[in-house]
Amino acid sequence: MTHQPIPEVAIIGAGPIGLELAVALKRQNVNYLHFDAKQIGYTFSWWPRNTPFFSTTERIEIAGVPIANSHQGRVIGEEYLAYLRAIVEQFDLAVKTYEQVTAIKPHAHGGFSLHTKTLAGEYHYHVKRVVIAKGDMDKPNLLSIQGENLPHVSHYFTDPHFYFRKQLLVIGGKNSAIEAALRCWRSGTEVAISYRQAEFSDRVKAHLLPDINAQIANGNIKFYPETVPLEITPQHVVLQSTRDGELIIHPTDFVLLATGFEADMSLFTVAGVQLEGEFLVPVHNPDTMETNITGIYVAGTTAAGGRQPRYRLFIENSHEHVRKIVTAITGHVPDKIGTISSRNYELALKEIQAN
Ligand SMILES: Cc1cc2nc3c(=O)[nH]c(=O)nc-3n(C[C@H](O)[C@H](O)[C@H](O)COP(=O)(O)OP(=O)(O)OC[C@H]3O[C@@H](n4cnc5c(N)ncnc54)[C@H](O)[C@@H]3O)c2cc1C
Repeated sequence: MTHQPIPEVAIIGAGPIGLELAVALKRQNVNYLHFDAKQIGYTFSWWPRNTPFFSTTERIEIAGVPIANSHQGRVIGEEYLAYLRAIVEQFDLAVKTYEQVTAIKPHAHGGFSLHTKTLAGEYHYHVKRVVIAKGDMDKPNLLSIQGENLPHVSHYFTDPHFYFRKQLLVIGGKNSAIEAALRCWRSGTEVAISYRQAEFSDRVKAHLLPDINAQIANGNIKFYPETVPLEITPQHVVLQSTRDGELIIHPTDFVLLATGFEADMSLFTVAGVQLEGEFLVPVHNPDTMETNITGIYVAGTTAAGGRQPRYRLFIENSHEHVRKIVTAITGHVPDKIGTISSRNYELALKEIQAN
């Protein structure tokens, strides 16, 4: 009987950063396994596919492969998914899609035992190391109010067309809420927004903030500042003013709860990785991305934690995780991949904020 060598690494998650790590490991001839609970790039596949990425193309390019398009501008989700598929094809990456990793446990002979689940059954793998790149958007932040589960209420914005010539109340005041409100209004929807703050933050994307403020000022979109939803019924939403407690009954056909997302961090806790602070950040060495469990690493947006009031990690500033992990595992710094700095593995948060 021949024994297969134990894979050096298992990557959990085939979003942009999991894929970038796979390319870097493959370039160094590292024997690895790669899993995704769904399809590659799943996280933004459930967003409206024509949503433009906020990053310019060179910052979200994977493994140095240019995003070529005819307009040299930002790509939309559909284009980025096509690009990721091309990355997988070009580097012939083997991703076990629709195979969810359900547990990571120490293996009796060293390394880790991975438990996975597919529609066909459950499987076990023995690997030496694990990199968790599972993203930070597993489930919506629930309001836990009456009516949240009604069929006309959604936490996911998929398509403005659904709301054509209907009334829509958007709850929330960050980028996704504002973008949904504007797009729905431009698609012929009667839109209102309820936000717990008095005004939108100046952190809102530069192309959205003046637009939403103008539509509110012109009376095109109704704004309920300093309000929170108390109850949703099939006909209306009960809002309460946080200033004076006044109740407002807002009639609406649909409700979009743009209240953000959180990550399911149970894979970390089951593996013994400690989660730190209110953001539930996996404890890790920032130089290597290795967690408090030797041999388990964290990469991509999940490194920022399970519960984030404001997102801090993106594709843009997670490329460097790839360099750190590959260097830690193989002892070799991955080669620079061209001359454009943001296509390389070095772009850190401070550089993003400086731009
Ligand atoms: C619409 C949209 C636009 C965005 N635009 C930008 C942008 O312009 N620039 C930018 O830098 N960032 C952007 N982001 C933010 C962020 O960078 C992305 O969400 C990005 O996808 C994160 O990459 P990631 O590889 O860390 O994780 P993800 O892309 O979230 O990938 C994680 C993967 O892990 C899988 N997974 C989860 N749990 C398991 C499990 N237990 N077993 C196996 N697989 C699992 C998921 O199915 C998923 O495919 C955007 C996000 C969205 C939603």
